[in-house]
Amino acid sequence: MSFEQEDEIILRGIPISKGIGIGLPIFFVSAEDDVPEIAIPIKEVDLEISRYRRALEMSRQDIESLQKLSQTEGPPEIVSILGTHLEMMRDPLLTSGIEERIRDMQRKPESIFYRLIEEYKSRFSTLKDQYFQERVRDIIDVSRRILGHLRPLNQVKIGEVPHNSIILTHELVPSETVEAKASLVSAFVTAVGGVTSHAAIIARAKGIPYVANVDIKKMKKADVHSLIVDGSQGLVILNPKRHTLKKYQELQRQHLLSYKMLKSHSHLKGETIDGYEVRICANLENPKEIDQVIKAGASGIGLFRSEYLFFTKRALPNEEEQFEIYKRMAKSLKGRPLVIRIFDIGGDKKIDLPPNHPDAKYFRAFGTEPNPALGCRAIRFLLRYPEILEAQLRAILRASHFGQVHILIPMVSDITEVRLVRQKVEEIQADLKKQGIKCTKNIAIGCMIEVPSTAIMSDAIAEEVDFISIGTNDLVQFVLAADRSNAHTADLYFSTHPSILRFIRMVVASATHARKPVILCGECATDPAMIPLFIGLGLREFSVAARHIPLVKHTIRKWRILEACRLAEGALEHTSASDLKQFLDAETVR
Ligand code: PEP
Ligand code: MG
Repeated sequence: MSFEQEDEIILRGIPISKGIGIGLPIFFVSAEDDVPEIAIPIKEVDLEISRYRRALEMSRQDIESLQKLSQTEGPPEIVSILGTHLEMMRDPLLTSGIEERIRDMQRKPESIFYRLIEEYKSRFSTLKDQYFQERVRDIIDVSRRILGHLRPLNQVKIGEVPHNSIILTHELVPSETVEAKASLVSAFVTAVGGVTSHAAIIARAKGIPYVANVDIKKMKKADVHSLIVDGSQGLVILNPKRHTLKKYQELQRQHLLSYKMLKSHSHLKGETIDGYEVRICANLENPKEIDQVIKAGASGIGLFRSEYLFFTKRALPNEEEQFEIYKRMAKSLKGRPLVIRIFDIGGDKKIDLPPNHPDAKYFRAFGTEPNPALGCRAIRFLLRYPEILEAQLRAILRASHFGQVHILIPMVSDITEVRLVRQKVEEIQADLKKQGIKCTKNIAIGCMIEVPSTAIMSDAIAEEVDFISIGTNDLVQFVLAADRSNAHTADLYFSTHPSILRFIRMVVASATHARKPVILCGECATDPAMIPLFIGLGLREFSVAARHIPLVKHTIRKWRILEACRLAEGALEHTSASDLKQFLDAETVR
C-alpha cells in the first residue's frame, strides 16, 4: 500500500485496549529505526564533529566498563569480543573517516553513520564466510551503541508528551507504559505486542486505547497529521475525513458516558442477584494510586506488582525504601488486605540499566536469554540473588505490623520454592524479634498458579500455603505454549480454552479441599463472558485493575448462582476453544 498525502487511510491491527483515541501522532524511535538524511549548515560542521567524538567516547567508556565487569564475572569469550569492539572504535574508518564524510557531505553524523552501516551490511550479507559474518555482527553491534549515544532516544519522555498525543512505536515496554498519563496520551499504536502483555495490561488499567500489529515504519513515511485509534475494533485511521472524525467523536462520547454510568455504581457490593458475595480486590502497580483504588470500591489490594517500584526508580529499591512504601500502603488500606507479590522481574518485565549501574550485575544475563518468558524470572531470579529476596521480605515483614499484609510468590514451578521462601520468612521473623522489631507472627504466604506444573500439583501446594492466586495471564501462555506478548500468537492465546477451565476447576477443588482461599487475578477476570463462568466454577474472589471494578461488579450483579453453575457445567462440555467461545458469547448476553 502506498500512502498519498492527505488521504484518509484505515489500517487494521489487533485490538488491545478498548476506547477511542483522537489526536496527533508522536513517533517514538528506537536506535535501529531508519535515520533520516539531515543536512547541516557549514558553520555547524565542527559542532557536529565534536558531538560525534563525544558519542564515540561514551561508547568506548561503556565497553570498557562492560569489559571490566566481564573480566571478573563473565565468560572469557565476551572479554575478547569487547576487545575487538574497542579496537574497531580506534579504526580510522570510524574516526577520521566519519569526520571527513561529515565535513564533505554536510550531514548529521547519525545520517552518515547509518549510511555507512547499511553499506557494510549489504556488502557483507552475501559472504558466507563465518569470519566475515561475525565481523558484520560486531560492526552492527558497535554502531548501535554509537547511534544510541548520538540520538538520545525519545527525547520527549512518555510522561511529558503534549495533550492528545498518540504514541506510535515499535514496542511498548512496561517500564515506559507505566509513566504514561491518560490525560496526555490519547492512544498507543505499536508494531508488536500481545493482548495480555504487561504494557497492554497497564494501557487498559489506565483506560488508554491501544492497537497493536500495525506497520509503524510505513506510517512514519506517510504524511500523518491527525489520527483516530479505535481500540475496540483494532482500527487506526490516518488523516480522517471530517465525517469520520464526527462519527468517532460521537463514539468516544458514548464510550466515556457508559464508563461514567458504570462507575457511579462502584460503591455497590459485588454480589449475585440471590445474594452470594464475590469479593473484588484491585491489582496495583503504582502505590500512589492506592486512594483511587479504595474509591473504586475495592475490598483490598489483591495483587501489588511490586516490581514496578524497580521500573519507576530504575534501580532496585532498598529495604528501607520498600518498608516506607509498604507501611504507607498498609496504613491507607485501614485493615483491608494488601497482597504484596514479591518481585516478578524478568520475561518482558525488565529494563536496560547502563553497564556501570550498581544493579546492572543482576540483570546482565537477561539480555542473552533465548526464551525470557521461560527464563530466570520472578522467584527463580530472587532465589538466585537471595540478598534481593531478603531485603524485600524484611521490608514486608516490618510493614506487616501496620496492616493486613500478605506475601505472594510469582512463577512457582515447584513446591520447594515455596518452602524456601517460608524458611527465609521464619529466619527473618526470628531475627526481627531478636532486634525488638515488631512484625506479624503468622503472615499469610500465597502461591501464584501460573505454571502448569503448579496447577497439577495444586492439591499438595494448597496444603502448605495460606492462599492461592491464579494468574491466568501466564497460565494461558504456558498451557497453550502461546507467548502472551507476541501479536503473531494472539490467535492461539485463548483464555477460553477448555484446558484452562479444567485447570481452574482443579485448582479451585484443591483450594476448597485444603480450606484455603483462592483468588483469580488475571486479565480474563474482567471479561463479562467469563466472570459468571468463574463463579460457576466456584471462585468467589477476583482481583482486577481498579478501572475494571465497576464492570466486574455490574456483571456479577446480573447473575444468579445456579445460572452461573449451569453455565460452567455447559462450558465444560466443549472441547475446542472456538466452540467454547461461541457457547459463552451466546449464553452470557444479558
Ligand atoms: C498473571 O500472570 O495472570 C498475573 C496476574 O501476573 P502478571 O500479569 O503480572 O504476570
Ligand atoms: Mg504472571
